[in-house]
Amino acid sequence: MTDKLTFDQIDEIMDMLTGGELPHGMRMPDQPKLMRRQAFSIVWFLQEHTGIIPSHFEMCQVCEELYDSDRGGYWLDPSSEPDDWLTEIGVTPEIFKSAPEGGFCQHECEAKFWHRHIQTMSEATP
Ligand SMILES: [Zn+2]
Repeated sequence: MTDKLTFDQIDEIMDMLTGGELPHGMRMPDQPKLMRRQAFSIVWFLQEHTGIIPSHFEMCQVCEELYDSDRGGYWLDPSSEPDDWLTEIGVTPEIFKSAPEGGFCQHECEAKFWHRHIQTMSEATP
């Protein structure tokens, strides 16, 4: 028995905060309708400050789905160096450092992120 919330419970909290479906039989007249990023910042606060939510539950930066980083996903740390795959798709060390720290639920999401980020960077420097 643990006091921490489960992945499914956090999914329910995210649904509640974003105006989604409530648990069966529950009604909430003033249910919030936050963006998923805003909702996740509440989850993040509960993780960092209260510890009732395990910190390995993350939200993907691209598709904004929750994932368990103990079971999968990728973490982007801009203070490290781009690996071979990133170099191959055109991520220079400079582009790499300009990326925000964050996580992705799957490889495809990370690829999408870099595709967009490279485009944004090349538009910023003509
Ligand atoms: Zn994703």
